[in-house]
Formats: sequence, C-alpha cells, structure tokens
Amino acid sequence: MRRLALAAVMLLGACSAGPAPSEVVPRSAVAPQPANASTVSAAPSSAANPPPSCDATASLRPGPLPAAGQMPPGSTMAKIAQRGRLIAGVDQNSYLMGFRNSFSGEIEGFDVDVARQIAKAVFGDEKKVQFKVVTAAERIPMLQSGAVDVVVRTMTITCDRLKDVDFSQVYYQAGQRVLVRRNSGITGVESLADKRVCVASGSTSLGNVVNRVKTTVSVPNWTDCLVMLQQGQTDAISTDDTILAGLAAQDPYTEVVGSRFTDESYGVGVPKGQEDLVRFVNGVLERMRTDGTWGGIYRRWLTPLGPAPTPPVARYRD
Ligand code: GLU
Repeated sequence: MRRLALAAVMLLGACSAGPAPSEVVPRSAVAPQPANASTVSAAPSSAANPPPSCDATASLRPGPLPAAGQMPPGSTMAKIAQRGRLIAGVDQNSYLMGFRNSFSGEIEGFDVDVARQIAKAVFGDEKKVQFKVVTAAERIPMLQSGAVDVVVRTMTITCDRLKDVDFSQVYYQAGQRVLVRRNSGITGVESLADKRVCVASGSTSLGNVVNRVKTTVSVPNWTDCLVMLQQGQTDAISTDDTILAGLAAQDPYTEVVGSRFTDESYGVGVPKGQEDLVRFVNGVLERMRTDGTWGGIYRRWLTPLGPAPTPPVARYRD
C-alpha cells in the first residue's frame, strides 16, 4: 500500500513537471542567421572604383506649386492624380524613419510623413498614398521599373545612384555612426578594424565600412542586424545616425558611439526622365521648410537625435 502511494506521488511529480523547459542556449552557440545574410569581403564595385564625380546634392529648381487637385495636364503629377493615389516606396523596418506601428498596423515615421506631404500636395489629402515596402537594395530597381512614383527611404543622394535615378533636393542631413552593445568597449569606427560589422545590402553604409573592418556581414534589413548584434553574431552595426537612433530606442542594451564619419544627404528618389515630378517634389519640400511643417515632422519623430536643426538649405543646378 505504501509502495503504491509513493509510486502515485512520483507519477504526479513527473506529470506536473510538464515538457522539459527549453534550454537557454549560450550566446556563443551558433544561432541561425537571417535569411540572405552574407559575408562581404570586398567593397562593392561602386565603392571600389572611384565614384563618378558630380554635384550630387544640386537638384532642379521648383516653379510655383500648382494647387492641389489641379495638376498640369500631361504632367507626371496629372497621371498620379488620375490614378487616385501616390505610390511611395518606404521602409517598414526603421523605427522613427519608416516602420510599422504594431498597434495600428500603419506605416509611420519621418520619411512616411514626407511622402504624405507629397500626396497632400497632389490631392489635398495626405491619405491618398499607397505605401510599398522596399529594402535598401530594392529602391533603385523599384524606381526603374515604375513600381513606385517616389522612394522616401533614408536614401542618400550619390553620383553613382544619379546614373540610374533622379533625386529631389536634400530633405535631411544624416551621417554614419556605429551601434554596439553597451559593454563592448568599442568607441567608434576606428575601433572596428578587428571586428565583425553588420550592414544592410544595397546601402551606402556597406561601402563606407567594408575596408575599415575585419568582416562585413550584409543582410536585407537593419532589424536583421539588430538581432545579429543581440545574439553576439556581430560586434557592431554601422549606418546612418537616424536608423541607429531607432535601433537604440528598441534595445536599451545598445548605444550609438563615435562621431559621424560620413555625410548622408537624403533625397526623394524619382525615376529618371521625370523632371516635372522632381521640380514638384522640390516645391513641396521648400514649402515644408518655410511653413514649419518640416520642423513639426522632425519634432514628431526625431527628437531622440536632439532638438530640431534648421532644415537643409536647398541647392539647385539650374
Ligand atoms: N542612407 C544609406 C543609403 O542610402 C543607408 C540607408 C538604408 O540602408 O536604409 O544607402
């Protein structure tokens, strides 16, 4: 009888233990990598060859902005108006710049608000915009195929990119820095020579670090880099301070270190051959600068980067 009771207790104990708790894997163990992660050993051709030289940030002067709802007949804007919505390529992975609000499911952020202002100028309604999520590497192909009217996605204006697409005037001045785990001892780009660094493929960030670090790992999205940093698969992430501020806000165990070591002048990407749309977007950006909209959007999203600076000064080549 006693033996039976003991057996019952043991059985009960075994049942209540339930399935074995999943093991806590030491960080040094090999963790799965994000899809399409690869190790880049040399600078991409655009960074290895001397880049074409041009006055990259000088755009086309805007004329007077047509009133919303009255786009000039035959213009690119009239075609967008006829369709009933602007199609804008944006990010959904960069908190603060272009990200998905997980409460509402909406795409939000600084770049997203800039895209909404363009829609508002065409339609008088900032909601008449369809967002297409694009990775860094997809920006130029999406513009070239006409899948999007504009790209507003932390896109640096470069002479290399100007061979394939056009750009508005500069609407934001960013610069590349470094994000690390707080206890890393890394103080900036100069401490990365023997380190493993994560970047997004198709970004200028990749070419800016590949020759200054031991190993460069490239992934589709910056949030893939954050997971790799958290899992100890890389020592640092290096990209624009805007994107890093968003990643740091999502993980208090990380910090942005060192000063800016590049200039990343953001422009709205426009397909080649649509001068009228470039001038129109520049008119919208001018208006946003002068009527306080730019400052309002900055304060809405980017105060983690400090108080609102004066917006970039427009430069034109004609
Ligand atoms: N501004 C850089 C670029 O245009 C990095 C931005 C990004 O990868 O989203 O490539």
